[in-house]
Amino acid sequence: DKKVVLITGCSSGIGLSLAVRLASDPKKTYKVYATMRNLTKKERLLDCIKGLHQDTLDILQMDVTDRTSILNARDKIVEKRVDILVCNAGVGLMGPLEVQSMDVMRQILDVNLLGTIQTIQAFLPDMKAQGEGRILVTGSTGGLHGLPFNEVYCASKFAVEGACESLAVLLKHFNIHVSLIECGPVNTDFLINLQKAELGDTSLQNVDPQTLSLYEKFLQHCGSVFQNAAQDTEDIVKVFLDAIQSPSPAFRYFTSGFVPPLTELKLTHPDGLQYISAMSDHIFSDNEQQRP
Ligand code: NAD
Repeated sequence: DKKVVLITGCSSGIGLSLAVRLASDPKKTYKVYATMRNLTKKERLLDCIKGLHQDTLDILQMDVTDRTSILNARDKIVEKRVDILVCNAGVGLMGPLEVQSMDVMRQILDVNLLGTIQTIQAFLPDMKAQGEGRILVTGSTGGLHGLPFNEVYCASKFAVEGACESLAVLLKHFNIHVSLIECGPVNTDFLINLQKAELGDTSLQNVDPQTLSLYEKFLQHCGSVFQNAAQDTEDIVKVFLDAIQSPSPAFRYFTSGFVPPLTELKLTHPDGLQYISAMSDHIFSDNEQQRP
């Protein structure tokens, strides 16, 4: 029997690559339900699959912020079960906190946090009844340490960590493994899709000059990090496969292969000040800015 996998956010990026990889598995180990909010964006996925794997891939509409849409997708699963649930859908938000509207902040929390939780909720009773399952969540280093101008995004991803860790403690008793795949920068549409205040936007006109100048430095830093250090989705997919294929998967996987040194500072210096200084130097000091 094939392993039934459901993935959220498959119209681009990590979700798309993972869906393609699993659906093209030479041994046809997986039946993939690739879900996306907007089905008019399915061409990219279909192009990557090239019509070859019709028996291993189905595309379903699912907006993780819409409970009815999640339940409708669940009802369309022919096998009537999901063995591996991948909560991947997510959006970013960048800019000075004082310009973010409540609506935009709610939207980020709706997708990243409540969307993830709501998706898990919908599949949890059946997984518990099956007595086995895997829940994989695309995590972010922004869920492990704070990043300036990313307060709401980081809050959403930190919250996902808390929800998953709490669940993992319980679900151990149901033979359900929860794993977070912690990604640093990845080459995807994430930067295009995220909501970002641009320098010169009218929304920034009342922001103080010091914040704007630090924001400019941050954007430069961010650009160079994505240019020099971003991983490709294939690298991320390998880590997902490790977790999926492991008989006893870890709770956290770091796609870079190690705990980022700045994240480690939080553990070695729990009062938090070392991390704050080091990250501030890393992003804002002119010397550090030259580093890739
Ligand atoms: P991406 O923008 O290409 O993919 C995100 C996908 O989520 C898109 O297909 C988008 O349509 C979908 N999505 C957004 N709102 C949705 C909703 N309401 N319902 C269903 N789908 C929705 O970017 P990506 O990098 O592939 O992002 C995937 C995940 O990886 C996200 O959770 C993101 O936070 C995380 N991540 C990305 C990076 C990075 O640098 N790219 C780093 C760390 C973590």
